[in-house]
Amino acid sequence: MQVTQDAIKNFVIVGGGTAGWVAAATLGNIFKDSDVNITLVESKEVGIIGVGEATIPPLLDTIRSLGIDEAEFIKATQASFKWGIRFENWRKKDHAYFHPFGVLGQEIDGHDFYQCWLKSKAEGDKTPLMAHSPESVLSDHNRFFLPFNAMGTPLASAHYALHLDAILVGQYLRKFSESIGVQRIEGHVESVAKNDSGFIDNITLKDGQQITGDFFIDCTGFKGLLIEGILNTGYDDWSEYLPCNRAVTVQTKNTGEITPYTTSRAQDAGWTWRIPLQHRTGNGYVFCDKYCSDEEAIATLLANIEGEPLTKPKVIPFVTGMRKQAWNKNCLALGLAQGFVEPLESTAIHLVSKTLAFFVRMFPDKNCNQTLVNELNRRVRADYEEIRDFLILHYCTTERDDTEFWLYCQNMAIPTSLQQRIDFFKVAGGLKPGAEELFQPTSWYAVFDGMGIMPAGYNPTVDALDYKKLKMSLTAGKNAIVEVVKKQPSHDEFLQKYCPAPTPE
Ligand SMILES: Cc1cc2nc3c(=O)[nH]c(=O)nc-3n(C[C@H](O)[C@H](O)[C@H](O)COP(=O)(O)OP(=O)(O)OC[C@H]3O[C@@H](n4cnc5c(N)ncnc54)[C@H](O)[C@@H]3O)c2cc1C
Repeated sequence: MQVTQDAIKNFVIVGGGTAGWVAAATLGNIFKDSDVNITLVESKEVGIIGVGEATIPPLLDTIRSLGIDEAEFIKATQASFKWGIRFENWRKKDHAYFHPFGVLGQEIDGHDFYQCWLKSKAEGDKTPLMAHSPESVLSDHNRFFLPFNAMGTPLASAHYALHLDAILVGQYLRKFSESIGVQRIEGHVESVAKNDSGFIDNITLKDGQQITGDFFIDCTGFKGLLIEGILNTGYDDWSEYLPCNRAVTVQTKNTGEITPYTTSRAQDAGWTWRIPLQHRTGNGYVFCDKYCSDEEAIATLLANIEGEPLTKPKVIPFVTGMRKQAWNKNCLALGLAQGFVEPLESTAIHLVSKTLAFFVRMFPDKNCNQTLVNELNRRVRADYEEIRDFLILHYCTTERDDTEFWLYCQNMAIPTSLQQRIDFFKVAGGLKPGAEELFQPTSWYAVFDGMGIMPAGYNPTVDALDYKKLKMSLTAGKNAIVEVVKKQPSHDEFLQKYCPAPTPE
């Protein structure tokens, strides 16, 4: 096989937010010992969005795959641990449920755990579903430990993610990327030139510097300077399903213990988040401007924070949806330039890494074979649509009818793909793991259960099990979780011992 004359030699990444630096670190790591150049351009004038502090477990795989030490990364980014998300007031006021990472319970004699739990419930067992989730029980007790240190216990299968300081993540990945040969240029892109085939040829900065590239990665945030500004790719707007279109954020001093979970509390026109880090807490209110003004949103947010504010409230407008193509000609859009579904399940940074993983698997030459382009775009779209549907589930199943916003959510049209999943669940309850899907059955069960949606019955094959044995097995599993959880350190103790972050100046 011949090495193609058209191999990509020069990558230009425009944008130095989380997306830009994750791309630089990932590509830099792959090409560190080669003649491929990676240049990242970022503008001081524009700055970064500076939010994006809750993550999901695959982020840690990204960090590890770069050879970065996890404890060092946690210290440098003031991170704390996360077992999942606590949802408050979503189903109705004064009600809460937990969406854990990881799996629920274990199969019993080859029968699906969830079906066994349904059967037991039908027999009158009142044990909540989440009593079988290690992450949920750990969160109830504010405990943390590393699952691989609990081999042979029910906690070994627990999954965790991080809460982290978005600014510090960028700084850390910048240092890492530069250490492996990525070149950083500070400058503002003023114009972009295409060649005869419509591919991007070069960018020109305000100071006149021209940078030529074979392939461009657009990480310029919502505006999508290259993917939209130059290539006019188009954007699918999903606001009819996910009507929130603004967020207001504020950082506060920590108060009390650092919880090992994110809190999402439904409000009159959206929801507020609380993300505790080691040095401070991040807070925000995601809302819909049709039902709430900026002033009302700020007042709601300030009424929901616990510590003293450290920053002024900042309003961020957004449009939920995705670029029609993440990859167009010789340009791949990542991060906010690619699309944005609201941060309810902390999926945005993960989509950056996942798109990069697809891109690496389908690595093109300078001509960007259209079959590769189409395949990547198909997969990215599937991810967005899956996440979109899962987020809508949180809203459309609400019982709240106390505000116009929640009435809209209850009554809005939903995508057919989601409607089919809800209908199937209500009849059969048996969700199957999807190889390509981010949200596996545990996640769907958690939200269905939390929102009070139950299947009509359990799978009759479970009747083949002796109920006494089934019940004993469920009880033993639940008790084993509690026993081992009680032996773990508190989240604060664990952070102090394993990865204490420096006190900020
Ligand atoms: C309210 C809100 C909450 C969020 N919460 C989460 C969360 O909890 N978890 C999660 O995973 N994600 C979250 N996200 C998403 C997350 O913030 C982003 O995915 C992530 O920060 C990546 O942003 P970015 O790098 O794409 O864009 P940005 O941070 O906006 O960076 C854009 C970059 O482009 C550069 N740039 C722009 N124009 C030019 C130009 N002309 N020339 C040169 N450079 C230019 C800028 O200098 C900057 O470096 C949230 C987003 C929002 C809006």
